[in-house]
Amino acid sequence: MDLGKLIQDRIRDVDDYPKAGVVFKDITPLLADHVAFAGVVDAIVNHHGRGTIDKIVGIEARGFILAAPVAYHFGAGFVPVRKKGKLPAATHEETYDLEYGTETIEIHLDALEPGDRVLIVDDVLATGGTAAATAELVRRGGGEIAGLSVLMELSFLNGRDKLRNLDVHSLVTV
Ligand code: AMP
Repeated sequence: MDLGKLIQDRIRDVDDYPKAGVVFKDITPLLADHVAFAGVVDAIVNHHGRGTIDKIVGIEARGFILAAPVAYHFGAGFVPVRKKGKLPAATHEETYDLEYGTETIEIHLDALEPGDRVLIVDDVLATGGTAAATAELVRRGGGEIAGLSVLMELSFLNGRDKLRNLDVHSLVTV
């Protein structure tokens, strides 16, 4: 089985969502296919190797769906990074620029132990702003970043430019 081809087949392009001019990469068909879903989780775990990671950080919201089974298969903990106002206890927060306006994301102050080896997981790497802000939250929380794994990288948006000191692993690049 060619996992890259399967992933491409199961990610649906939705034009003009959530606004005109954006091609949204919809991963719901992939999640509904147990072979594709399991293949993606296994590929992320195998790329890094069991025992090398202490915590998986998932980015709200689709990142959670991928990060939780990856954490289970690694034997690692799961930590959510959420949009401002969603986490109940005290947080670190990080604000970054979007095309129009800004976004603020948070991590619980006590989510990481000092020196935790952390893998960040999300569905799509676009401009890299979300991943860069998440990496900053992990550093402020005392974690050491082992890498970032994404299902799909939109290379024309040059997200890697914002992530130069990070090991970026994408299962498919378009
Ligand atoms: P960025 O910060 O620009 O790299 O955007 C990454 C975040 O926004 C990820 O959490 C993605 O889920 C989401 N995202 C950005 N662009 C798209 C897209 N074209 N299709 C699906 N999700 C996207």
